[in-house]
Amino acid sequence: MFKDIPVDVSPMYEGERIRAANMFVELAGPKSIGAELVQVEEAVEDGRIEVRGPEISEMEEGEIYPLGILVEISGEKLEKGLEGVIERRTHELCNYVNGFMHLNQRDQIWCRVSEKASKAGFKLEHLARTLSILFREEFPIIEAIAITIITDKSEVEAFLDKARFQYEERDSKARKLSDNDVDVFYGCVMCQSFAPTHVCVVTPDRTALCGAINWFDCRAAAKMDPEGPIFEIEKGEVLDDVKGEYKNVNAVVAERSQGTFERVYLHSVFEYPHTSCGCFEAVAFYIPELDGIGIVDRDFRAETPLGIPFSAMAGQCSGGKQVEGFAGLSLEYMRSPKFLQADGGFERIIWLPKHIKDSLTDFIPEELRNKIPTEDDADNIKDLKKFLQEAGHPIIQRLKEEAQDEENVQEEDVKLAEEVRVFDENVQTAPVAYAPELTVPTSSGVRIILKNAKIYAEKVIIKKK
Ligand code: SF4
Ligand SMILES: [Zn+2]
Repeated sequence: MFKDIPVDVSPMYEGERIRAANMFVELAGPKSIGAELVQVEEAVEDGRIEVRGPEISEMEEGEIYPLGILVEISGEKLEKGLEGVIERRTHELCNYVNGFMHLNQRDQIWCRVSEKASKAGFKLEHLARTLSILFREEFPIIEAIAITIITDKSEVEAFLDKARFQYEERDSKARKLSDNDVDVFYGCVMCQSFAPTHVCVVTPDRTALCGAINWFDCRAAAKMDPEGPIFEIEKGEVLDDVKGEYKNVNAVVAERSQGTFERVYLHSVFEYPHTSCGCFEAVAFYIPELDGIGIVDRDFRAETPLGIPFSAMAGQCSGGKQVEGFAGLSLEYMRSPKFLQADGGFERIIWLPKHIKDSLTDFIPEELRNKIPTEDDADNIKDLKKFLQEAGHPIIQRLKEEAQDEENVQEEDVKLAEEVRVFDENVQTAPVAYAPELTVPTSSGVRIILKNAKIYAEKVIIKKK
């Protein structure tokens, strides 16, 4: 099937990593631009393959080039609602090619071609041909497919605009719906190939953490292939509306995570946060010194105020883990009115990169817009606290209330001790023992030593042996 392709194609190459030392060229990624897009069209010329811009053979070793992957499909049973889910498979299918690495999704893609593949004569034309075959194989409802791969910079720029417009169309459709409006959520286990205990729960308010699949996409996918990796979850009994805990969701997550996790809160980073695979767009992380939450995404390369960058944080919570204080999430979820609602939503957000903040202007409550710092305002805890105090961020009030609560508890402890003393004085007691050191015998392998012990008793009974 792949006889004209000079490298091997098989699912066994899926986990292949191409390090900088072994790469011929890098395509898209953080130092360039790129995107992938699947479009359902009325009519498509089946088998059409096109590479617009320089081929691998015309590229310079060690350089970075922009990349666009356009997949146009048609078929009687295909609907626009399936574009997002089919597009999400680009990642997996590209990685079947030995010597080609594909990371992330949408306009976050990051690819590399290995030196070995380039020497074997591998070209982007071969990648396009492979995708054409694999997509048809994976989705029999595709009747015709055409693939265009773009590496010309200005064409990739134009393609990026087109792709972003399409992503926004898909995302904004889901924004109109709330978790409360539906009886069914969806689960996705596509990422279990590398994060075996990860189960995505996709609801109208919580777009999947990869940012590429929303509730509508899941609905279309589950309808097309009910036995596939995306499946229905009856919402069932609500255990906690604010935290987003559902009896049935817990049961499905327990089953699909092979019993690893029994509870999930959809809208909190505390106690039982959603599991994280590895392709999340951003991470919400708890900042204990200020009792607030920060957000960082993969485009932010510097260190967060915690002193570690996104990559280190992602390492701590990815792989299908549930780590209290961390939650992988999509940037779209930050546009939901339920965004971390159990933790206080934006009132609890005390740091985020400027590019995220700028993209969320219409979604951050107006009174908080100038109060949430970015890397321009603070890059360490001390400066962060100073900024929050000066800006009058609600977290400062929260910290004061917490300090007050602690003071009250201490005062209550003092009062209680006082009451005990008064009680002691009022009760007719008699000192029965005084010892500078008294050992209380126990049977559990520990010794209890009381220093300067004074023992009082209301009644002393003396019995003859
Ligand atoms: S991140 Fe979640 S929704 Fe996205 S592909 Fe992976 S499992 Fe599916
Ligand atoms: Zn994932």
